[in-house]
Amino acid sequence: MTNQVNQTAGIHHITAFVRNPQQTADFYAGVLGLRLVKKTINFDAPEVYHLYFGDEYGSPGTIITFFPWANSRKGRIGAGQVGVTTYVVPEDAYDFWKERLAKLNVAAEETERFGERYLQFADPDGLKAEIVARAEGPASTWSFGGVPADKAIKGFGGAILYSGAPEKTANLLVNVMGLVKIGEEGGYARFRATSDIGNVIDVNVDAMEPGHGGAGTVHHIAWRAKDDAEHALWRSHVASNGYQPTPIVDRQYFNALYFREEGGILFEIATDPPGFARDEEQAHLGGKLMLPEWYEPHRAQIEQLLTPFEVRVLEGDQQ
Ligand code: ZN
Repeated sequence: MTNQVNQTAGIHHITAFVRNPQQTADFYAGVLGLRLVKKTINFDAPEVYHLYFGDEYGSPGTIITFFPWANSRKGRIGAGQVGVTTYVVPEDAYDFWKERLAKLNVAAEETERFGERYLQFADPDGLKAEIVARAEGPASTWSFGGVPADKAIKGFGGAILYSGAPEKTANLLVNVMGLVKIGEEGGYARFRATSDIGNVIDVNVDAMEPGHGGAGTVHHIAWRAKDDAEHALWRSHVASNGYQPTPIVDRQYFNALYFREEGGILFEIATDPPGFARDEEQAHLGGKLMLPEWYEPHRAQIEQLLTPFEVRVLEGDQQ
């Protein structure tokens, strides 16, 4: 059976390893102004948080997630990973962010690719991120601390993939995931997905040193499937192209399947529904530790293993 679903809208979420939940909240909510939309646990390791940050709703294309693990070894960013996560802000907000990062002592470098200016910086664990200003993508409705909604991050602009086999990764993006190649410049090939957020993917053209996992590296990148029916089709599509997808697993807020691509990067395909309002009211997203029902009987023990933290306005924003 053939199908026509094989074009992802773009990035669903990106998941990374860090060390400290408070430090992570202070950076992604405090500095970057994202909303903590879900505080839960790693379903495979319940002594570790799984923290989701995004726009007000945790919309697909805006969600950066973390496993903070105090004892994690430090990773090395390199081939086989998402190298840089790109956040997109409104067209007129570039200078706001340049000034904001400077004010909050986040060292940023300005670079240019494909005719766009980028502010590149690292989070406290060394994860590489960048900000780009674009007209496309719906404006954020969330404001926090020193970030008003009209300057706020709209979501992912995209990502830079560091591939161990760039031609194969490029081939996968175009011929399996349904992105369109739009150019090549300065050592990167650029691809676009159909959405107006989480849609611009750059891939290194030349070979690069392999990375290894650990704190300060991305674990996987998830791509969007519109619903469960399309998700099932994605699974057979990926398999029929020679990849080995996992069974579909229930991640509470989406269903997921995973496969390792030939460049070494772990890809996930995740469904847009049901989303983060599944078990908390929209107004209170991220307010409480949420557990899947099979862990509820162990809540007391689990809570004892987790270090409390809070989403708080940074001192530098209190004036
Ligand atoms: Zn994931």
